[in-house]
Amino acid sequence: MMCCPLCYANFDSIDHLFFRCSYSASVWSTIRTKLGLGDINHVWTDIILKLCAVAGSKSFESIVARIGVAAASYYVWQERNNRLFRNQTRPPDVLAGIILGVTRLRLVSLTYKRSLNVAVKLAKWNISESDLFDNGG
Ligand SMILES: [Zn+2]
Repeated sequence: MMCCPLCYANFDSIDHLFFRCSYSASVWSTIRTKLGLGDINHVWTDIILKLCAVAGSKSFESIVARIGVAAASYYVWQERNNRLFRNQTRPPDVLAGIILGVTRLRLVSLTYKRSLNVAVKLAKWNISESDLFDNGG
């Protein structure tokens, strides 16, 4: 068993990294409300159960949650590897900002049924009609 390179206070494991580790729990606490998962704590199985419950949904909320959790998993894993193999570190708030930025960029690339409801939801991500890739052009 290896020591966690994010907190140096526990063993490196999937359950620990996603997101019980003090570092990744801090990332999760920063992003979860924006991802619509404010009621889900930093326990991986709870996060997965929530995603499974909305897996078949094409609602904006379920798409945001799936993209955001995928991005969070990717960037926490990348942070772990950067610390192990490159001796590079980023604070949790920086990682959270990257995850939300990547999620926003992915949201910009999707196609939506145009409605006021969607426009309001996109506005919460600071996305306007003119930002969308398929804006009629
Ligand atoms: Zn840790």
